[in-house]
Amino acid sequence: MKTRRGMTMTARDDRDEIILSWQELFDLACGFLTAHGLSQAQAHALAGALCKAERDGCRSHGLQRLPGTVETMAHPAFNRDADPVPQALTPAVTRLDADYGFSILAAERGLPLLVTGARRLGVAVLAVNNGFHSTALWPLVEEIAAHGLAGLSMNPTHDWVAPAGGTAGALGTNPIAFSWPRRGRPPYVFDFATSAAARADIALHRQEGRALPPGWGLDAEGRPSTDPAAVLAGAMLPFGGHKGSALATMIELLAGPFIADRTSRQSATFDGGAKAAPCHGELIIAFDPALVGTALGKDEAAQDAAEDLFSRIERQGARLPGARRHAARALSESRGIAIPRPLHEKILSMMPPAG
Ligand code: NDP
Repeated sequence: MKTRRGMTMTARDDRDEIILSWQELFDLACGFLTAHGLSQAQAHALAGALCKAERDGCRSHGLQRLPGTVETMAHPAFNRDADPVPQALTPAVTRLDADYGFSILAAERGLPLLVTGARRLGVAVLAVNNGFHSTALWPLVEEIAAHGLAGLSMNPTHDWVAPAGGTAGALGTNPIAFSWPRRGRPPYVFDFATSAAARADIALHRQEGRALPPGWGLDAEGRPSTDPAAVLAGAMLPFGGHKGSALATMIELLAGPFIADRTSRQSATFDGGAKAAPCHGELIIAFDPALVGTALGKDEAAQDAAEDLFSRIERQGARLPGARRHAARALSESRGIAIPRPLHEKILSMMPPAG
């Protein structure tokens, strides 16, 4: 198959889905981004993150995000050539200014210093500033765990979410991801938004004419609503009532003022109606369990206690977060990565003509 830009693809055709190899998927995503003027380095980093999500069955943050990148790149502040450079603020704190490009390149460039800092000091911080964001957080914390470290990452978004007990948006959907390394097994990783549901999920309900479950949102007058259109015009709700609300507030503070960046309110104001992805900071922390455990004289015991905890969870039939993803990854690796045919067609139709 020849695309409009002449890329050759060997897609296998499975009715509603197209099955691509990793390289084909990556070339499709990277080719789309560079064709729309994004630098090679940024396109490479963003395409990698989107393809990992597609491979692991996390479609909300997979290639379906590609068409929206065109709107983000049209934001007047967006910098297609941003070339972030790490800046060591203290032995424990590295800063990367994403310089109004996509934040993932800055985060990736900061990871080596974060890892070195955590190994030396036990705990280190990476602050990414001024990045446009559209990716899942788990690939970064999973990468941190691959170095034998625990990882934590969080960021604000736009102020779509009302605090528990409130009536209007004040908080972001604010995702948080955590990883813990395990010997000889995939790391323990969770990654979720602190809103009751993803905004994309509410939009999907509206598209399909389905009512929302109670507890997902409020209408523009601050009344509980199950009408997706009314909630999109009103406010979403945090998960877990006051607990999700407090967690989302912590993320606003730590990934906003603490690293001298925007809150979700400030990010929405900065958007100015451009409908770009939110532009804000991202806080990434790495912890070295071996260094701290050894200093406390119980590294082995700590590892054993962690494994005992995981097996107690699994022995009673519960699953660990990340288990579904790893099963999806194994399937993708054996049969190729499936993407919905309409999405594949949409991406190809949005490729600018080669010229
Ligand atoms: P979910 O509510 O789907 O929760 C996902 C997490 O919970 C995963 O770690 C998942 O593991 C785990 N999980 C789900 N079901 C179970 C279960 N039954 N038992 C144990 N663990 C379970 O996620 P969200 O919709 O809130 O978020 C999805 C993605 O959206 C995240 O990757 C997040 O980073 C991203 N996001 C990004 C934003 C941004 O600004 N960049 C904003 C908001 C969200 P598994 O993967 O194995 O199923």
